[in-house]
Amino acid sequence: MAKKLNGTVIVTYRCNARCTMCSRYKAPSIPEEELSLETIKKLPPMYFTNITGGEPFIRTDLKDIVRELNKISDRIVISTNGFFTDRIIDLCKEFPNIGIRISIEGLEQTNNEIRGLPDGFNRGYTTLKKLREMGMKDVGFGMTVQDKNAPDLIPLYELSNKMDMEFATASLHNSFYFVEARNIIHDRPMVAENFEKLINELLNSNSPKKWFRAYFNHGLINYIYGQKRLLPCDMSFDTFFIDPYGDVMPCNGTKDKEVMGNLNTQSWDEVWNSEAAEKVRYKVRHCERQCWMIGSVSPAMRKRIWKPTWWVIRHKAKFWTKKKYSMYELPIVRDYRDGKVTKEELDACSTCDMKACVNNGLSAASNAQLRSRTGEEIVAEDLARQTAADGQAVNR
Ligand code: SF4
Repeated sequence: MAKKLNGTVIVTYRCNARCTMCSRYKAPSIPEEELSLETIKKLPPMYFTNITGGEPFIRTDLKDIVRELNKISDRIVISTNGFFTDRIIDLCKEFPNIGIRISIEGLEQTNNEIRGLPDGFNRGYTTLKKLREMGMKDVGFGMTVQDKNAPDLIPLYELSNKMDMEFATASLHNSFYFVEARNIIHDRPMVAENFEKLINELLNSNSPKKWFRAYFNHGLINYIYGQKRLLPCDMSFDTFFIDPYGDVMPCNGTKDKEVMGNLNTQSWDEVWNSEAAEKVRYKVRHCERQCWMIGSVSPAMRKRIWKPTWWVIRHKAKFWTKKKYSMYELPIVRDYRDGKVTKEELDACSTCDMKACVNNGLSAASNAQLRSRTGEEIVAEDLARQTAADGQAVNR
């Protein structure tokens, strides 16, 4: 039997949020061009499937998509901004075993400033609470840590504990997917100190899953200091992303879109075994971007489980002798503290490029619609049409 893969399905590039660290909302896809059920049916068996966007719940046929993916996936997690509460609840009634991760970027004020969604925190929080009340088990927060919200890291973690929910972290990345090249952490020690506190909380818990999360967050400190990944990146070997146009890609971290093939026009085997796919794999092996996102780290941790396990054992042992994890275990953090490396040198190790012209990865038709209207206007009109259609259906 063929090996199951880890896949991320980007069902749309439309988004109703206005995140400061992601400009995807300015570059939406055209609904008619977005992944069809016919294309989704061609995907291979997966041990893990992440459904993401844009905002996936903007698609009114998301239920049909999940129904298809459910046939070929052992586990599905949907990443969402949590705004469309009714749609999320409705979908979860049919699929109580899927996971839902709602992006919350801090406590109320910080979250709303970063995500730019009207009453975004309360809507996300209410959705999470309703999902819990329904008995959904795999529910949690996702937070992208940056200068502005790092002080909210521990309060948000505590809130997730109180609600008995998963707490996933990330940090700023630049790529065509985020339509960003200027994301950068400015006050690295401050952000790292907040990660350090979180790591100690996680290590101090009784949950092995949280101990491994501690390792992931240790890797995030390493990442924001611009260092080589703690584990090699194996994207495109047993992991893939597929974008709204059916293009199969290794990941969402590359500067420009890298394409292994197109599932609208090819079969899965043709894409996966193509010369283009081999070229992409060669690029991945030589990639210098050093991303540390759960999508590329989780498969790497699975593959080299002994490495995070050894880290966990060493740090749990430290706890028994009353010592704690310290961010200064990382040589680069010590070097920066001791003035052996400058902020400018660390900035140069990041993927931030203030002069870059960002390629948004859109099709020619999606880009063309941006000539007369902004992405925000296009999505707002689209949502207004959806609301009008819902009203008509109710009145019928
Ligand atoms: S490090 Fe891995 S995930 Fe990041 S851009 Fe390179 S190949 Fe993609």
